Amino acid sequence: SKTPVGFIGLGNMGNPMAKNLMKHGYPLIVYDVFPDVCKEFKEAGEQVASSPADVAEKADRIITMLPSSMNSVEVYSGANGILKKVKKGSLLIDSSTIDPSVSKELAKEVEKMGAVFMDAPVSGDCSDKQIQSSAERRELCVVGEQVDSGVGAARSGNLTFMVGGVEDEFAAAQELLGCMGSNVVYCGAVGTGQSAKICNNMLLAISMIGTAEAMNLGIRSGLDPKLLAKILNMSSGRCWSSDTYNPVPGVMHGVPSSNNYQGGFGTTLMAKDLGLAQDSATSTKTPILLGSLAHQIYRMMCSKGYSKKDFSSVFQYLREEETF
Ligand code: NAD
Repeated sequence: SKTPVGFIGLGNMGNPMAKNLMKHGYPLIVYDVFPDVCKEFKEAGEQVASSPADVAEKADRIITMLPSSMNSVEVYSGANGILKKVKKGSLLIDSSTIDPSVSKELAKEVEKMGAVFMDAPVSGDCSDKQIQSSAERRELCVVGEQVDSGVGAARSGNLTFMVGGVEDEFAAAQELLGCMGSNVVYCGAVGTGQSAKICNNMLLAISMIGTAEAMNLGIRSGLDPKLLAKILNMSSGRCWSSDTYNPVPGVMHGVPSSNNYQGGFGTTLMAKDLGLAQDSATSTKTPILLGSLAHQIYRMMCSKGYSKKDFSSVFQYLREEETF
C-alpha cells in the first residue's frame, strides 16, 4: 500500500487536489489553519495533523497549496513549521503561486535539512496538445455548469504543473502531481516553475483587460455583444479570455461573468500575481509596460469592491467608467 502524503492548505484549489490524491489511493495527513476545512477529510477517514511540523513528522512527501509567499514562509519556517520536524530525504512540493526568490530561499533551508524542495505552481487551463478546438478545451474546463479556470481543472484532475527543482527528483514529484494534473512540465532549477506561472498570468491579465476593452468599445459602438464575441473568436483577436472565459455577462454560459463574477480566480489573487511579475521584472531589468498597467488596474479594482470577484469583472469595472 502507498505511504501517506501530507497536504497543507485545503482551500479552493487544495481541497479538490487533495481529493484526487485520495482517489489514487494515497492516504493523507492534512492540515489547514482554518480547522473547518479539514472536517471533510477527517470524515473520509484521513488523518488531521495539528501543525505543519506534525505533518512533517508523519509524512515524507508533503504538498502545500497556500495563498501567498508569506504563508509558505510561515508553513515552512514558522514556529511549528515543516522544517522543525522534516525527515531526511523528504520531498516537499509547494504548489502555491509565490515569489520565485522565496522558493529559492525555502529550497536552501530544506536542503540544509537533507530534504528536497520543488516549486510546482499550477495553471487551470485544461488545454493539451491533442485538443484541437477551443470548444473541446472548454468542454474539459466545464465542471457541472461552471467553467472555472483553476478550480474546475483542480476538480477534474486536469491542472498544468510547472515544476522547478533538481531534475533527478522530477520523476518522484511527477508520481504525485500526475494524480492531480494532465500536464506536468519540468521547467528547470528551483523558482523557474514560479517564473513560468507568473509569465502566464501576466499575459492572461493583459488579454483579459484587452478583451474587456474591445468588447466594451464594440458594445458602446452599437454592436451586439454575442455577435462581436463570435467575430473575435473567428478572427485574429481570439484568445482564451475571449473564447473560453468571456468577461461580458450573457455571452457565454457557465463562466463567472454570467454568474455575477462569482467563483473563478479572484481579483486579489490576480493583483498578487501581477505584483510578482513586477518584482521579477525589476530584478531581471525587464520592461513590462502592459504588465505594470494591468497591475495598477487590478489593484485599483481591489480597492473599489472587486477583490472577491473573478478577475474577468474588469469588464464591469470598465463599464462603470465613462471618459470625456
Ligand atoms: P484559498 O485562499 O482558497 O486557499 C488557501 C488555503 O490555505 C486556505 O484554506 C487557508 O486557510 C490556508 N492557509 C493559509 N495560511 C495557512 C497557514 N499558515 N497554514 C495552513 N494553512 C493556511 O486559495 P486558492 O484559491 O486555493 O489558491 C492557492 C494558491 O493557488 C494561490 O497561490 C493561488 O494564486 C494559486 N492558484 C489559484 C487558482 C484559482 O483559480 N483559485 C488557480 C491557479 C493557481
